[in-house]
Amino acid sequence: MEYIAKLTKLKGKELSFESLEDINVERLKTVFGTSNNVEGLITFKDKRALSDKQRKLYRALLNNIYEWSGEPTDFLHEWFKEEYFLDKGEKISTANHSTNSKSDMNELLDMVIDFIFEWNVPFKKGYELLPKNESWYLYQCCKHRKCAVCGKKSDIHHVNAVGMGSNRKKVDNRWREFLSVCRKHHVEVETIGNEAFFDKYKVKGIKLDEDLIKKLRI
Ligand SMILES: [Zn+2]
Repeated sequence: MEYIAKLTKLKGKELSFESLEDINVERLKTVFGTSNNVEGLITFKDKRALSDKQRKLYRALLNNIYEWSGEPTDFLHEWFKEEYFLDKGEKISTANHSTNSKSDMNELLDMVIDFIFEWNVPFKKGYELLPKNESWYLYQCCKHRKCAVCGKKSDIHHVNAVGMGSNRKKVDNRWREFLSVCRKHHVEVETIGNEAFFDKYKVKGIKLDEDLIKKLRI
């Protein structure tokens, strides 16, 4: 169940929200058996207007798909806008007068990147533009086992290494971070260390959800 709410108070770990929609309490009780102590996920939306950097990346990525498929970028643009509408129930515009936010644009870019990973579209011009330090990009790299640095087939690097003698099965993955890197870059990160590697390639470790950890068998 998803609702949109406004943060009204923030004091340490205590947060108060005012819901902008009517919450279906009955449904909440049916699903969770109670309306107290239900756990949720908070996502803060970046309301800043979408940026030229995002537009440039979007165009470069559509170009990659064009070179691979031969479908004109205008057609691809309309297709992804339609996908966005079907998924979110809202229209998106990438034009200069667009009222869409940075977060909206990241969702659209996420769809394009997902497509590229799913179909193994070769990264060309777009690659150096990819926002390598952004969690959603790094997440896609893990999900599709692509190196976050060069796009080749990857292993998953455990950023916080499992300590000597500790049992992998007992490690609580919620506190661990991962980075998707190919063999060559895996060797490099283990040689020069996380910090130097992150600094050199502008990447970072990210947390993964339990489902993906299970799926990737890491
Ligand atoms: Zn690599």
